[in-house]
Amino acid sequence: MQCFKHPHDSAVGLCKYCQKGLCQVCAQQTPYGLGCAEHANDYLPALHAIFIHQQRMAQNAANLYNGLALFLLLSGCVFVPWGLLGEAGTGTVVSGVVALLFAVLIYREGRKMTRTK
Ligand SMILES: [Zn+2]
Ligand SMILES: [Zn+2]
Repeated sequence: MQCFKHPHDSAVGLCKYCQKGLCQVCAQQTPYGLGCAEHANDYLPALHAIFIHQQRMAQNAANLYNGLALFLLLSGCVFVPWGLLGEAGTGTVVSGVVALLFAVLIYREGRKMTRTK
């Protein structure tokens, strides 16, 4: 591959943002990767910020899932004995079991989110 600005020079890398070939002169090393003159200073830090933001969003969503899973778990732990021992009946036991199942499912979904990086 050749440099996009200097067709006679071979590229040493690609701009992380626009994917154009960069020669030794054009390539700019940034803490976030290689960038062309146009993108190294503005776009790569922005790209990095978006990446960090997305990671945080995933973490928040995972926390939300964990909270919901805990809530369902507690509900299940209340409903099942309540239905079995009290006057509430089978419907309450079933609701409790369903809540427990969803608690497990949602907890596992939340785990998946934080594991993918
Ligand atoms: Zn670029
Ligand atoms: Zn060049």
